[in-house]
Amino acid sequence: MCSTEWKNQILEQLKNIVDPDLRQNIVDLGFVRNLERIAKEDGGYDVRFTLQLTTPACPVKETFRQEAIDAVSSLDWVRNVQVDLQANQVQTSGNRPLHKVKHIIAVASCKGGVGKSTVAVNLAFTLAKLGGKVGIMDADIYGPSLPILVQPEDRIVQYKDGKITPLEYQGVKLMSFGYINTESAIMRGPMIANMMNQLLTETDWGCLDYLVIDMPPGTGDIQLTICQTISLDAAVIVTTPQQLSFQDVIKGIYMFDKVSVPCVALVENMAYFEPKDMPNKRYYLFGNGKGQKIADDYGIPFMESLPLDPDLCRWSDSGTPAVLVMSESKISQLYHSLASAVVQEIAKRAFGNRSKVPQVVFDSDKCAIVISNIDPSDGNTIHNQVEWTPWDLRNACRCALCVDEWTGMERPKHVDRNVKPLQIQSAGNYAFSVVWSDGHQSLYPFERVAHTKVQESAYSNTPASTQG
Ligand SMILES: [Zn+2]
Repeated sequence: MCSTEWKNQILEQLKNIVDPDLRQNIVDLGFVRNLERIAKEDGGYDVRFTLQLTTPACPVKETFRQEAIDAVSSLDWVRNVQVDLQANQVQTSGNRPLHKVKHIIAVASCKGGVGKSTVAVNLAFTLAKLGGKVGIMDADIYGPSLPILVQPEDRIVQYKDGKITPLEYQGVKLMSFGYINTESAIMRGPMIANMMNQLLTETDWGCLDYLVIDMPPGTGDIQLTICQTISLDAAVIVTTPQQLSFQDVIKGIYMFDKVSVPCVALVENMAYFEPKDMPNKRYYLFGNGKGQKIADDYGIPFMESLPLDPDLCRWSDSGTPAVLVMSESKISQLYHSLASAVVQEIAKRAFGNRSKVPQVVFDSDKCAIVISNIDPSDGNTIHNQVEWTPWDLRNACRCALCVDEWTGMERPKHVDRNVKPLQIQSAGNYAFSVVWSDGHQSLYPFERVAHTKVQESAYSNTPASTQG
């Protein structure tokens, strides 16, 4: 066997392992490193290599390892297989604040009282359980809740070399206004923005895989300031069935869209109640949630409904994150799938899926809005095109003015046959927005409109296309 032949045989075997999110095999993704073999007395070889993963919190890492061992072991000359798992190194170059932090996740809600901070804390500790280095920044200056939700023994914030040293609990780093000021801050806007800036940029987080930012509720200036100060990778929007409205979720999506941050998950908190003595009974306290429908309509890749759990509340009040003490519970499993989904969405986006975003243009000769889907295999050439007449696309709008948010039924509307798009803009990686000539503004997730064929009948009835 020549010097490269054995390597090729192994790589051929490993090509059978496909990353479920990135939809490419692990060899082409460049995950396989440091391939070596060690000769054995019987003429066979031990094989050893590294799998370089996108994140240490990769939820499928053990599956990868086992699949890799099985695949390589099937070669008859291979004796033992050793696979080392490694995650990408944190990049320490660049001047942006928090440059040693790999990914920043915002947890946001449009209104208070939806349990946003509890979700942020449990998400952060779950990310840490998945193997990531994690920090939580409580950016809620009006009602900081991190000091209540997580109570480390040592609660004295230190300043060192002009930097603020965060607190730590079970390996997770913590910072909050509440740790600095024991009294609730009552300040005016500019001062708050200053303090926020200082806490965001002068806290020495060290190297982190994930920093979870517990955002102040709402979608105003202070929230926008945070988004503009640091470069967020993803947002998770928290709501309750009670509070949930199309309008609110869209407000959140638009806010993050202004700073090109994708909303990767929607959490419908306190959605139902399961009595302990009747684990099969599930009560929807505020009606069966419509979160999934909203997530679908607006192209949010992941939706999770969390129960109202008295144990969770009790642990939260005691200063210990519930996912640490109730690690085998159902709620921990739900947080596990939420954290996995967030990790996977971030990994997908970090892996250059940006170039695969469909292109949207208005072709005035055809009088059609043309959506060009990019071939996922090369991320470059056009795979296929879908055409919408302006009138059809305008009618397909699902905003709160066009669709009744409670029933999901379309409201009757009279769209001018000659309606035209004035502005088309991409929104994150998952949608595009259109400003129409009738003053209406619409947001279209690619999921919903990029693969639907144009409605021929409506197209041929459009006066704009027959007359013009
Ligand atoms: Zn609309």
